[in-house]
Amino acid sequence: MSKRLVVALSGGVGGAKLALGLSRVLSAHELLVVANTGDDFEHLGLSISPDLDTLTYVLAGLDNTVTGWGRRDETWSFMESIVALGGDGWFRLGDRDLALHVERTRRLRLGQTLSEVTADICTRLGIGVRVVPMSDDRVRTRVRGDAGWMDFQDYFVRQQCRPVVHELTFEGAALARPQADITAVLRSGQVRAVIVCPSNPIISIEPILAIPGMREAIKASGAPVVAVSPIIGGQAVKGPTAKMMRELGLEASAAGVAGRYGDLLDGYIIDHADADAISKIGARVMLAKTLMTSLHDRETLALVTLDVADMLALLR
Ligand code: GDP
Repeated sequence: MSKRLVVALSGGVGGAKLALGLSRVLSAHELLVVANTGDDFEHLGLSISPDLDTLTYVLAGLDNTVTGWGRRDETWSFMESIVALGGDGWFRLGDRDLALHVERTRRLRLGQTLSEVTADICTRLGIGVRVVPMSDDRVRTRVRGDAGWMDFQDYFVRQQCRPVVHELTFEGAALARPQADITAVLRSGQVRAVIVCPSNPIISIEPILAIPGMREAIKASGAPVVAVSPIIGGQAVKGPTAKMMRELGLEASAAGVAGRYGDLLDGYIIDHADADAISKIGARVMLAKTLMTSLHDRETLALVTLDVADMLALLR
């Protein structure tokens, strides 16, 4: 029997677009989506996991396509009320979204793991594919700007990525273990492809790869590793990817992203707009339409990534 399992590494918005495409062209049991949890934080007494939440809402068809984050059909009574009482309003939590954080926090306090909570919530929201945090251990991305170290959400949301980034750290990563399903799938001998979604390499994918054993387990799976560039025509579609890369002294381009992943990649999918970069990229490169606007774009790009992986497997 041919290998069937696909592992997708994802951050939030960009990653979830391709994860949705993959979920629609594969059977539910064939896909494992691994989410970055370096962005997680505690706010107003709640445990918030922004990338897991984005993936959950997108895969459940509950994402807010107007804001690009959070839940659809959202109302803001809680936010208005807490601000009126003098509380923190910089991280926007809609009323419906709030329910997820309250329930997750309650269950974590009862001693459930983040993966147990996530699995149950995904089931309740009708998500068939498996979505797992990169680790059940605490990892926190921190950013060093001119004024010193900041928590990630302070930089990302409160200061809206304005500070210049000099350095990043993934606190706790060195002691974290990959979530158990990830290593079990990677060791199964049944992995068809590992797909690195078009997410911010520095703050969405590198925290996943920073967990000891993760990179090695991906390599040892024997499956082709194929990434999709989050940079199109030298620009990020959304968010601070290009700005951060420049500030860290990296080339903000499709080639620059490939350079970050290094020998992890077997294949790399870049947009037609970046065709000039091919000669600078070590991995085998395929050109595609990588801007995902419609659902059809997401499904088509998912099929392209799988085709590239299958082709690379044949070349081995
Ligand atoms: P975050 O955790 O919410 O910031 O989301 P991710 O890290 O998963 O995604 C952010 C990256 O997604 C940015 O670098 C965007 O350029 C990229 N992105 C968003 N939409 C698309 C798209 O349609 N195609 C591609 N190729 N990249 C995208």
